[in-house]
Amino acid sequence: MKCGAGIDTRDIEEMYINIDPIQAGGRLTADAMKAAIAFGDGYSVCDNCLKPFRLDYIKKPPIAQFHADLAAWLNMDAVRVVPGARRGFQAVASTYVGKGDPVIVTALAHYTEFMAVEAAGGIPLEIPKDAKNHITPDAAAEKIEAVIREHSRTPPLLFVDHVDYQFGNVHDVAGIAKVAHQYDIPVLINGAYSVGIMPVDGRALGADFVVGSGHKSMAAPAPSGLIATTNEHAKEVFRTTEAKGDVTGRTFGIKEVEMMGCTLMGVTVVGMMASFPHVRERVKNWESEVAYSQAVTDALLSIDGTKVLSDYPRRHTLTRVDTRGSFDLVAREHKKRGYFLSSELKRRGITGIIPGSTRIWKYNTFGLTAKQIRHVGEAFVEVARESGLNII
Ligand SMILES: *Cc1c(COP(=O)(O)O)cnc(C)c1O
Repeated sequence: MKCGAGIDTRDIEEMYINIDPIQAGGRLTADAMKAAIAFGDGYSVCDNCLKPFRLDYIKKPPIAQFHADLAAWLNMDAVRVVPGARRGFQAVASTYVGKGDPVIVTALAHYTEFMAVEAAGGIPLEIPKDAKNHITPDAAAEKIEAVIREHSRTPPLLFVDHVDYQFGNVHDVAGIAKVAHQYDIPVLINGAYSVGIMPVDGRALGADFVVGSGHKSMAAPAPSGLIATTNEHAKEVFRTTEAKGDVTGRTFGIKEVEMMGCTLMGVTVVGMMASFPHVRERVKNWESEVAYSQAVTDALLSIDGTKVLSDYPRRHTLTRVDTRGSFDLVAREHKKRGYFLSSELKRRGITGIIPGSTRIWKYNTFGLTAKQIRHVGEAFVEVARESGLNII
């Protein structure tokens, strides 16, 4: 089947079990698919946009209520939807970071945090990770002290990832926020790998900002995401325009500068909304998701020579493994080289690990059923056994 213009329909999710690290939490719900079809037209949510003409005031579809629900769900005061987590970082950086300002990020920060700081003219400075690949409150304190000493000013912002994208480790962001607040540094918690897949209480974490990704972790179409904040910071990051046309004298009401007025205007926001009741329920099953992830990890560990680089036992569904001592040994002798692994998995109905990689790679088991989890674990072991690796 074709979509036209040379585009094949995509059937990955229908045909395979997909363990792609970045795709698992963004897979659409059936309701989001319906919403995407119904609201595919450009400004489709604007049918009933009434005064004061802003996206988050629209009552039909219930976008205003959705904003209130999101804020309550994250235990924060105010929320806006944005085109991706990165646009949330950008709104915050653009509000608080001036030219030459040092901004604290971490050794595990996502590249989009660096981009947001760079775009605002700031200098990103990393809190190092420890030997266990964690960002600790102590390391944060040390870095803050060092930065203040060297730059003779307090960083206007600290970014920290709740769950990092490299290891899927859950970090002590509450402890780090506490440290930052001792220096009056506002903290942005990057929830790209937590908001929408595990419980997140922004206030309990001490967040000044919580940023989430719709298409990474909220079963929403791309590009979508959210930024949640406190009343105090909402006044700043959601400030309204003061611009005035010098010839026409026009002013622009309550449009918010960092949001460029309105943000998600069709399939993105409505898709996010349609999935939200499911997302709100699924975060309650987090312990079971973690147990499933542990089961696949243990199956991999039963293959002699395999190492897990993420925290063990697992506390998240995103996991990084080192198979240089197992699958990579097979790849060296195999006629398909490193592609043997992805191709053997594909034969067993599994996709999502980078084709050709048999050294260090990641997988994400989020959203799989018990049966799929069993199949994935067994498939890894079977491929290993058939390749002559020892099962321990
Ligand atoms: C994917 C990811 C992002 C970017 O999210 P977008 O919604 O695509 O902008 C940011 N941070 C982390 C840790 C990520 O994994």
